[in-house]
Amino acid sequence: MSAIRRSRIADLLASKEFNRSVDVKGWVRTIRGNKYVNFVHLNDGSTVKNIQIVADTEKFGAEFFKPITTGACIHVVGTLVESQGKGQTCEIQADTIEIYGTADPETYPLQKKGHSLEFLREIAYLRPRTNTFGAIFRIRHNMAYAIHKFFNDKGFYYFHTPIITASDAEGAGSMFQVTTLDQNNLPRTETGAIDYTEDFFGGQTNLTVSGQLEGELGAMALGGIYTFGPTFRAENSNTPRHLAEFWMIEPEVAFNDIIDNMDLAEEFMKYLIQYALDNCQDDIAFLNEMFDKELIERLKFVVKNDFVRLTYTEGVKILEESGHKFEFPVFWGADLQSEHERYLVENHFKCPVILTDYPKEIKSFYMKQNEDGKTVRAMDVLFPKIGEIIGGSERETDYDKLLNRTKELNMNTDPIWWYLDIRKFGTAPHSGFGLGFERLILFITGMANIRDVIPFPRTPNSAEF
Ligand code: ATP
Ligand code: MN
Repeated sequence: MSAIRRSRIADLLASKEFNRSVDVKGWVRTIRGNKYVNFVHLNDGSTVKNIQIVADTEKFGAEFFKPITTGACIHVVGTLVESQGKGQTCEIQADTIEIYGTADPETYPLQKKGHSLEFLREIAYLRPRTNTFGAIFRIRHNMAYAIHKFFNDKGFYYFHTPIITASDAEGAGSMFQVTTLDQNNLPRTETGAIDYTEDFFGGQTNLTVSGQLEGELGAMALGGIYTFGPTFRAENSNTPRHLAEFWMIEPEVAFNDIIDNMDLAEEFMKYLIQYALDNCQDDIAFLNEMFDKELIERLKFVVKNDFVRLTYTEGVKILEESGHKFEFPVFWGADLQSEHERYLVENHFKCPVILTDYPKEIKSFYMKQNEDGKTVRAMDVLFPKIGEIIGGSERETDYDKLLNRTKELNMNTDPIWWYLDIRKFGTAPHSGFGLGFERLILFITGMANIRDVIPFPRTPNSAEF
């Protein structure tokens, strides 16, 4: 056995050091051959491109190649040589081939290319092996890294907020309950209600829908923080933009007002898109070619142009006067639907839009109240093909105003006493927003369904793998 270390195929394809011994391991994408020579296209996940292995038929014996079929995993040691063939710079002349694992052609589902995305969702345990999902998941990784880099370079701290929480940040109905109580034998209080004091945490708990409330506590001590973790919403909306389990990035910044908040969101989005253009070229080029011929142009456009900023009131006026027939009616006070958001972005401004100052009735209790008594300092960032990609606001810092709002909304403030309390001790202006990680990946990859940008999607009636 050779003592050389395994090379990543991405590194070999970029290398100009020919005629050296190399060691590669990967999965066979295709194999074809004749009585003189066999060509194996091998992929190890490091790039969307394959490396060609050239193996002498006589040297190995024709029988040797029979179990090396699409999907098999092999280990090749050979010489990296400049390629004569078109479409590749180098290839490997095989000296030894070891078969790690075969993949029976009768049962291995990924035979020929051209499977539908729907079919690939049913075999989500294998779809990372396809070019498409390899590209998407490499981009996903790069975006996660870029998010940490962006905030770290700005002096923000990664602040870990809890996944199990006793507070309902956004209003009841959409949370997954966490319990260890025996569902077949629930403890009851004297009045017959479920006795949650018997539950694991001594009270009712849920999976978090947002790290924001705890994130604000971090910002009130560390200045600038961000969270980046899983969030859970039991909303029964089967749309191409909603998951029951998704990842969210939530910066929260002391002393930022709504303008600073918009500036941060715009800079952040442009940084991430530029990072993808610079660092995921092959994968984006592949997706551009296969799925969305305008992808690269759209990404470049967003980086180059200022986002349009206007108020919700101005936005609604444009929609009302557009004469466009929407499925959902639009009027001042209505919660905007994706079709409205996309009309503003794609038809009217042809540019990303930041809408601000929404009616307080359709936004959360914690948003800073405007002088008009009707609107709050909310901001949603709307993107082409996506609609809302970011939602955020300047937060209400005044204890009495905040408390009043919770009363107007008939909220039970017991589980969030600490959130109100922080307004009593060195309160300060602060703002933040939430970016849905999968909506970002949808935008960067040009994919149309959110189920295709997370390895194992969780949606109503579906939690396989
Ligand atoms: P929408 O109106 O699209 O349902 P929202 O207003 O409920 O979103 P926020 O509570 O503002 O969303 O959450 C912040 C961000 O998290 C959103 O802008 C979006 O990018 C993302 N997001 C929200 N819900 C989901 C979900 N179910 N699946 C994936 N991403 C989501
Ligand atoms: Mn929102």
